[in-house]
Amino acid sequence: MNFEDFNFDRLIKDAIAKKGYTTPSPIQEQAIPPALEGKDILGCAQTGTGKTCAFAVPILHKLTANQADFAGSKKIRALILTPTRELAMQIHDSFSDYGKFLTLRTGLVMGGVSSVEQIRAIKNGVDILVATPGRFIDLVWQGYADPSYVEIFVLDEADRMLDMGFLPDVRRVVEMLPQKRQTLFFSATMPPEIRKLTDSLLIDPVSVTVTPVSSTVDAIKQSVYLTDKNSKLDLLVWLLKNNKDMDSALVFSRTKYGADKIAEKLRRDGISTAAIHGNKSQGARQSALNSFKRGNVRVLVATDIAARGLDIDDISHVVNYELPNEFETYVHRIGRTGRAGKDGTAISFCDIDEKEYLVGIEKLIKKKIDVVETHPFVMTVFKKSPPKKQQQRPPRAQRA
Ligand code: AMP
Repeated sequence: MNFEDFNFDRLIKDAIAKKGYTTPSPIQEQAIPPALEGKDILGCAQTGTGKTCAFAVPILHKLTANQADFAGSKKIRALILTPTRELAMQIHDSFSDYGKFLTLRTGLVMGGVSSVEQIRAIKNGVDILVATPGRFIDLVWQGYADPSYVEIFVLDEADRMLDMGFLPDVRRVVEMLPQKRQTLFFSATMPPEIRKLTDSLLIDPVSVTVTPVSSTVDAIKQSVYLTDKNSKLDLLVWLLKNNKDMDSALVFSRTKYGADKIAEKLRRDGISTAAIHGNKSQGARQSALNSFKRGNVRVLVATDIAARGLDIDDISHVVNYELPNEFETYVHRIGRTGRAGKDGTAISFCDIDEKEYLVGIEKLIKKKIDVVETHPFVMTVFKKSPPKKQQQRPPRAQRA
């Protein structure tokens, strides 16, 4: 199958060809035809599967087809809600790419930056709006954005919305939308709350599931270093100094504070490093990301939320500085390497408290991860730390 077999606008096909895509990815193959027919879609797919193109193409096609009816109306006709600013920017760029030969206008609204330009763009008229939920609601309440003409609604990364405490905002947005609309729903995982949401949002949807998370990881070389919490910084420096092939490493840190600490240590040891997390300004995050993408820095340290959806090819190594207690997060993280058929390596550090996570992860991916036996920072602490008191998380604390 190739893109010519689909029944959508020639100008979109030309733009896709210009991007260099020849074959549709499985999510595109399965989701584009029913979405073009106007069906609701329930897509179980993670970042990296090509899901943005899968929803962008039907939107661009449909809005272009009846564009003449809306000439000069300045109505928002498609809304894409996505949890993070980075993802919002990437989706916006994708619409610009796939729609480059069309005359539809795409706007971007997201928190963390001034709303002046965003409001100006909406006033001038946008057909497609890519938004993070909080800022979108603010603009609706202030009377700048009108959701009542939305024909197609995309909810992207729904499970991440849940993790980040955004579901109440999502529900608020949904209440603002017209009942008669098409909804395209994407989530990497389907926890019960998300299932419930799909029941209330989608009408007779076509379900599309691609690459179940546990099978995407086969191509990636995975290993684990058993070590102590206090040795992890030194172990990371040692690895980077002794492995010249670690030329672009994405290091995952559980906390923002931890990310800064790791980045500082690496820089002190002469390893060019940038960090991205939710406490950094949008400008700082973008410049860190650009430096990493261009290869100006060798290491990018990121929290899960800040890294979610980042579209970076050519990551040679993913390092799990801590093992995640949500096992699917491990799969999402390591899926950032080994993309587009390239080799990828995932290295995990595991201290005594994380050993149970290792067991859970291995169960999920249905294979044993190789333990590296010989290194200078082997585990010496075999007694688990006493359990920490559970802390209440403030609802928006995790806003990326
Ligand atoms: P996404 O899952 O939408 O974030 O897409 C992941 C990456 O795959 C992006 O870099 C896209 O540009 C790329 N991509 C999407 N569809 C295709 C395709 N059919 N062929 C090649 N690359 C693609």
